[in-house]
Formats: sequence, C-alpha cells, structure tokens
Amino acid sequence: MPVDSRFAATDTDVIVVGAGFAGLYLAYRLSRAGYRLRVLEAAPDLGGTWYWNRYPGARVDVPSVDYMYSFDPDWQQDWQWSEKYATQPEILRYLHHVADKHDLRRHITCGTRVEQARWDEDNAVWHVCTGHDHDITARFLVMATGCLSVPKHVDIPGMERFAGEVYFTSRWPHDPVDFTGKRVAVIGTGSSGVQSIPMIARQAGRLVVFQRTPTFSVPAGNGPLPAQKLELLATDEAGYRQAARMSPAGVPMVRSQTPTFSVPAEERRQRYETDWEAGELLVLLNAFADVMSDREANEEFAEFIRGKIRAVVDDPQTASALCPTTYPVGSKRLCLDTGYYATYNLPYVRLVDVATDPIRGITETGIDTAAESFEFDALVFATGFDALTGALAAIDITGRDAVPLKDDWADGPATYLGLMTAGFPNLFLITGPGSPSVLSNMAVSIEQHVDWVVDCLTDLRTGGFEVIEPTKSAQTGWMRHVDDCAGMTLYACANSWYLGANVPGKPRVFMPYAGGVDFYRAACDEVVARDYLGFARSGSAGVRCNDGVVRRLQPDVQMLLEQMAAVGSPPLESMSADDARAFYALWRSALPPGPEVGEVVDGVLDGDGVELAYRLYRPPSTGPYPVVVYFHGGGCVLGDATTDDAFCRDLCARSDAIFISVDYRHAPENPFPAAVLDGMTAVRWAAANAAELGGDPGRLAVCGWSAGGNIAAAVCQIARDAGAPDIVGQALVTPATDYDFTRKSYSDNANGYGLTTSAVRWLFGHYAREADRTDPRLAPLYAESLAGLPPAVVVTAEFDPVRDEGDAYARALAAADVATEHIRARGHTHDSLTLVGFVLSGAPVRAEIADALGRFLAAERLAIH
Ligand code: FAD
Ligand code: NAP
Repeated sequence: MPVDSRFAATDTDVIVVGAGFAGLYLAYRLSRAGYRLRVLEAAPDLGGTWYWNRYPGARVDVPSVDYMYSFDPDWQQDWQWSEKYATQPEILRYLHHVADKHDLRRHITCGTRVEQARWDEDNAVWHVCTGHDHDITARFLVMATGCLSVPKHVDIPGMERFAGEVYFTSRWPHDPVDFTGKRVAVIGTGSSGVQSIPMIARQAGRLVVFQRTPTFSVPAGNGPLPAQKLELLATDEAGYRQAARMSPAGVPMVRSQTPTFSVPAEERRQRYETDWEAGELLVLLNAFADVMSDREANEEFAEFIRGKIRAVVDDPQTASALCPTTYPVGSKRLCLDTGYYATYNLPYVRLVDVATDPIRGITETGIDTAAESFEFDALVFATGFDALTGALAAIDITGRDAVPLKDDWADGPATYLGLMTAGFPNLFLITGPGSPSVLSNMAVSIEQHVDWVVDCLTDLRTGGFEVIEPTKSAQTGWMRHVDDCAGMTLYACANSWYLGANVPGKPRVFMPYAGGVDFYRAACDEVVARDYLGFARSGSAGVRCNDGVVRRLQPDVQMLLEQMAAVGSPPLESMSADDARAFYALWRSALPPGPEVGEVVDGVLDGDGVELAYRLYRPPSTGPYPVVVYFHGGGCVLGDATTDDAFCRDLCARSDAIFISVDYRHAPENPFPAAVLDGMTAVRWAAANAAELGGDPGRLAVCGWSAGGNIAAAVCQIARDAGAPDIVGQALVTPATDYDFTRKSYSDNANGYGLTTSAVRWLFGHYAREADRTDPRLAPLYAESLAGLPPAVVVTAEFDPVRDEGDAYARALAAADVATEHIRARGHTHDSLTLVGFVLSGAPVRAEIADALGRFLAAERLAIH
C-alpha cells in the first residue's frame, strides 16, 4: 500500500538507517503497516550494539525479561533467557531469533553505510547515498543509528606507535582473544571497563587498569531469572509491560514520592541494603524521591556505596582511589558488575589513578604516565562513545535550504520530542536527543518511539499529508522543557557523556530527557491527541500548521497537577467555608515538611486586645536576626499560621531571618477589613517585641502569599501613611491586588492550574462586598499613590488567575519610584512556589525572594549602624 503522493515516485517509502534493536522493530511495524522499506546497516550483520560490543563480560544491565521486545507476547513459547542479566551472545541470538521469526531480514541490507542524506524540497524526497555510491530515494528517513554506536576517538598521543595488540571494547574481534599470561592494560572504567576488567583478569598474567574517573558500580547478583518477575509475567504479561511503559525508567516500579530525610536513618540504610542486594540500577535511583535532585540525599547514598567499595577492596589506598567523590551518584551512568571491586585484591592487578598520575602517551611497548613507564603485550580501550549525536553527525545530512544538520546543531542538538528536528522534514530520530533514551530501559523507549513514528506515518497517509515537520516554536518550547527537567536534577554536576563532556569540543548540553518515560510518553500522546500540536503538515490535503508548545508548565508542577487531577478533588466552591477549610488544612498538612530551621515556636500574640496565633521560625545561626512578618494564603477564608509551614521554613532557612507566620481573622465570619486590621496589629506587635523575640529592632519586613500578599501590600501602605512601624521591605508572592476579574489572566488560567477563577470569585464573595472594591486596603492597586512604600519583590506566576494584577502592581510600584524587583515565575502556578518538597523548580524563585529580602534588610542594617 504505497503512500498516495502528489510528488515524484520514490524508490521506497521509508529508509531506516541501522539494524539494531530499533531498526528491527521498525522493519516489523513498517512492513506490517504496508510500507515499502529498506533498512541500511553498516555492519556486516544485524544486532547493532549487540553486534559490535563483544568484549568479555558484555551483558545487559537491565534485567533480560525487561530488556526485550514487548510486541511479541508469544516469546515464552520460543525464547528462554538463561539468566537474570544475559550476555552479549545471548542477546544477539535473541535479536536474530526475532528477525527470523518475523521474517525481517529481507528488508535489511547489511554492509551498507549511509554517508549522505539530502532533502529534496521540490519533490519532497530524501536522497540517501551509501558507501556504494547508491542514490536511494524515499519519502521518509528514519535514523535508528543508535545512541552509543560511534566509538569516541581516543585522544592519547602515540596510539599508532604501539607494537602489541590493541582492542576496543566497542569493536571487539569476532574470534576469541586470549590474554593468558599476558601483560594487559585497560584504559577506562565506565560500564564497558567495569564489565570486562574482571574477565580479562581471569586470564592476564598482569593487569593494569588506568582510571581517570572512578565509577559507582553495583553488584549484579546475576543468577536465575527473578522468580517474582517471572510470576508477574506469567499471570499478567500485558499488565507487566504496561507498568513498564508507564514507569519513570521503563521497568515496572512506582515513582518514589518519599524524600530521603523524611525517613529515619536506620530505615534508610535498610532500604539501601535491600536495593543493593536486588542489584537493579534503575530501581536503585528511585529509592527516594530526591536522590537525583538533592545534594545531601545523593551524598548519603553515595557514601553508602563508598562504604561497600571500602569493605571489598583490601588495600586502603586502592579503595580510596576507587571511591568517586567528584560527582553525584547517578549523574554518570551507574555500572552493574560481577566481581569488579574484588578484582583489585588480586596480586597481579593494579590500579593507576590517571587523575593524579596522568598518561603522557603510548609508546612502542606500553604506556608512559607522568611517574612511570609500563610495558604491555595488549592494550584494551574501554573509552566510550561519541554518544547521542555521534552517529547522526557522522552522516552528511542536509535539510531544507540545504542547511547541514551539523551546522544546525553546532551549539547542541535541538529536537521536538527527540523525534524530529525543525528544518528537516520527514526525518525521524529514534531515541534522539530530547527523549529519555539512555536514562531508561532502552527497549521500552525504542518501542515507544517506533510506535509513535509508524502511527504518525499512518496518520499522515490517512489524512492526505506527505510531509511533516515540527515548528521552530514547538521545538524551542520542548528544548526549554528538556532543560527544565535537567535543571531539577544533579545531572549537570558531572562531566558525563550525557552532556557531551567526554568528547573534546562537543557543546556541553544535557541531551536526554530527564522527566521520565511516563511523563515523556504522556507528552508524545498529547501531541497526537491535540492534532499533532507543534507540527506543520502538508500534502494533497493542503497545509496544516498546528503551532503550539506541548509543555509550558515546569515539569514538577505538571506532574503535581496531573496527580491532583487523577485524585479528582472537589472544587472549593462546591463546599461550605468550614468544609473547605478542613479540606485545605488536610491537603496542606500532607505536604512534605520544609527544611530544618533553628527553632519553631507556636504562640499567641496579644495586640490591642486582639489575640492572634502565630508560629515563629528562628534560624540556627546566632542572632539577633531581622524579622519578617508573614501572612499566609487562603483567600482570607482558609488557612492559618501553620498552613504555609514548609514555605516559611524554606524562606527562614534561606534568608537567615526570623519568620513570624501570623494568623488573622477569616471571612465569612469576619469579612473585610478584619484580616487587614489584624495584619496591622501583628506588624505593630512584632515591631514592639522584636528584641524580646531575638530580633533586631528596626529591621522589619513583611511577606505574604496570595491573599497574604494582598494583606502585606495593604499593611505597607497603612504603615507608610501612619508613619509607623518602619517596614524596610515587602515580598509579595502571587498577590491579589485588585480582584479585577476582567483581566486576561482570569480567562487564560481559569481552569487546570490549581487555583481556578471560580474559586477566586468564591473566596472574594466570602471576604468582601462589591462596594469595597476600590478600598486600597482590599485592592492596594487603587491607592492614590504608591510613592514612599518600602522596596518590594513581587512574584507573579505564569499560570495564575491573579497573575495580571500582580504584574500591574509591580509596574505601578516601579512607576512610583519604589525599588521593585519583579520575578515572573515561568511555568509556575498560583501555589506551586509554596510547595517546597514537591516543586523543586520553585527553589530558584524562593532563593531570589530570600535574597531580595536579605538585601532590603541588610541595606537597613547599613543605614542603622
Ligand atoms: P544500536 O544498537 O546502536 O544500532 C544502531 C545501528 O545503526 C548499528 O548497528 C550501526 O552500525 C548502525 N549505523 C549507525 N550509523 C550508520 C550509518 N551511517 N549507516 C548505516 N548504519 C549505521 N541499553 C539498555 O537499556 N540496557 C542495557 O543493558 C544496555 N547495555 C548496553 C551495553 C553496551 C555495551 C552498549 C554500548 C549499550 C548498551 N545499551 C543498553 C544501550 C543500547 O545501545 C540500546 O539498548 C540499544 O541496543 C540501542 O539500539 P538501537 O537500535 O537504537 O541502536
Ligand atoms: P564510558 O562510560 O564513557 O566510559 C569510558 C571510560 O573511559 C571512562 O572511565 C573515561 O573516563 C575513560 N576515558 C575516556 N577517554 C580517556 C582517556 N583519554 N584517558 C583515560 N581515560 C579515558 O563508556 P562505556 O564504558 O563504553 O559505557 C558507555 C555507556 O554504554 C554506558 O554508560 C552504558 O549506558 C552503556 N553500556 C552499558 C553496559 C551494560 O552494563 N549493559 C556496558 C557497556 C556500556 P572519564 O569518566 O574521566 O571520561
């Protein structure tokens, strides 16, 4: 069933480059969907990774029953894995078995390297040239060229001089290599080195390992297939595979929500031990929610592993050199080993720490380091790959207007969903940069990509389109999202190949998608459900450009909203005020606790006969401290002095100031202006009692979130007009400033972002009357003048109904010559910045708020002293 085309006929419908795991599945899906296809493979045979990497010890590092195709549920009839982690020969046999069983070989031409691919705009055709000078045309070109298929060029001088045997783990000979009794050097201690070193040590007479960066490696505990997995597969294979697809990393597991330090130390240790014994890499990093995002949490786990290394390796100096200390665990790929560390206890195995004794060069007989000369019979390079972009860069690809892909990606790869790149129509990438790829079980990610691509081709065909290409803005939005995901993690803290840091001159960009397989899949599915959002399509049906950005929220905010939508909480406005309060208090109390502070004290303040509860947060350092009076959110109807606990702790810890979260009377029982009057009472009380509270009299600021921001703004105006107390700064976080429901943000962000427009209306209806609307104590934006107000930091969130009035207040303050810092929190919602333990992407904004407060308070100190 050829593609119905207005354009010139092509030799084939689809050219697939590469016959590894991805190329084989493409051959299966495309042939079943009725496409003419050619699979071109440079190697003499199929298998990709598992064809090339034949070094001793080469194995999968994801359990075999997970690292296999899920499209063939009959596999149990004709395929048996022999162990938990299968070896390279067994995996290669499996791939051959799949190719034979589904008659895929007839589509594959081996020994054919694609050297050039050129998009012919006029005919909407890809011209593909191979090493045999062929010009093959196809409507669609799919790069299944692999993330780890191009070995890194070894940049050690003198390579050509060595007279002995030279091996690369990534290009291992097909005939067995015999190291018996030989003097062997292994350079590199990544996954390939870690797997091959123990095997080479079994034969070598002398083995020297040259290590530049130590690795974190976990014992595989290899053996029989895990009974529990087999049982699950036997009872419900479809459910098992679906759980893998919907998991964070492509193996069935539930995304951890538990922060490390919310669990007692002994329980944490037990959890590390259990996971260590299980020997599953992708599960290990999911032990706690923050292992890959919190430096301290990560360091605790890293130290656990270092303890394991020290316990195995006899020589303390060698053990110390094997312990990684310069990067967070997981920020470079974790390794899975069998007997790696114990190998260093063998008397004829030696570790040379290249970081302290650098390799000077390779000589005719061996390797010279700064301190020593070594003689070898064989050198083994386990030095890695030009990962993720290397195979694409090796092909001369030109797209629209003859722009080379290499030039387009000169500053780092840019893709939409890791699947396509703007300016290169009909060019698909399997597990391209910007997709989870190497951070996941690749078997699951490859299947998802292939399914997406083939379904897309079919949708094009049925829709009457022949050409598809992402828009620039969709791509820019996606890359920003990829950056946002990476920015929440510790990945950037290592010189890893994820960042291209292993290849000199390669742009340093974190390339994979770190948001997880589950959220990634949801984005891909959403793009399709929204009629190929972010793509332009053309063909006999005409031109359809559906421009748009699929992920505009911060990744963790998106996840949280999805989780909340799944729970399906009732809308506030469907409840009585009391029920809404109870519901709100319950939800806020379920939030993870904020950071430790020096002291937390609950009290009741007595101001002018009004008693108000408060919670005081004191920093751990030595006082006296500046004092910040904090007003909680909740629309002047909900919440109390304790409901913003984590947010207050966080701001206290960051700003080194006392935070006093004060309660105030709530509507509808006590409508406007009760809350503002109480706010004033609290500020006066704090000013009068600052010294007694351990504060520094004269250094007083206010801060508030939401309705609390409204109160803080109003209090500053009242204090200015009254001439006291002296407030030196105001931090207004997503404040309401005029409740003008005609503003665009009320319609743009009416639903779907936590606080809804109808909830704001409901809260406003409880708190105030229409007649109060222009009272500046209710709507500070209506003040006659804002001049003379304390310096302000105003935070507005992109997806917030009250965003525009916050923006307006920031502009009005600045126009009145009030020193104003306006932070526009991209991708955030009304409350996301306050959700400390959940929303890590809010941390930089909270740091900016604390810094601004610190500057206001420090400036005052300079003025006083
Ligand atoms: P590949 O298997 O790399 O196949 C790409 C093919 O494209 C190659 O055969 C290559 O020759 C061919 N090709 C490239 N350029 C051209 C060209 N210009 N013209 C023609 N042909 C070309 N992932 C996991 O999830 N779990 C693991 O345990 C795991 N273990 C690994 C172990 C090793 C040693 C390595 C190197 C990688 C491992 N990976 C693992 C990642 C692994 O690469 C993927 O799991 C998967 O095999 C990739 O399949 P692929 O088809 O996308 O790419
Ligand atoms: P790698 O992780 O990039 O490791 C390369 C090693 O060589 C590093 O230790 C590196 O040191 C060192 N090195 C590179 N150039 C060097 C030089 N000039 N001098 C000294 N040392 C040098 O590569 P890899 O081990 O082949 O693994 C790549 C990826 O493939 C893995 O991360 C994994 O995803 C996959 N893989 C998986 C398995 C598995 O267990 N199934 C096995 C192999 C590979 P620096 O760290 O200092 O750069």
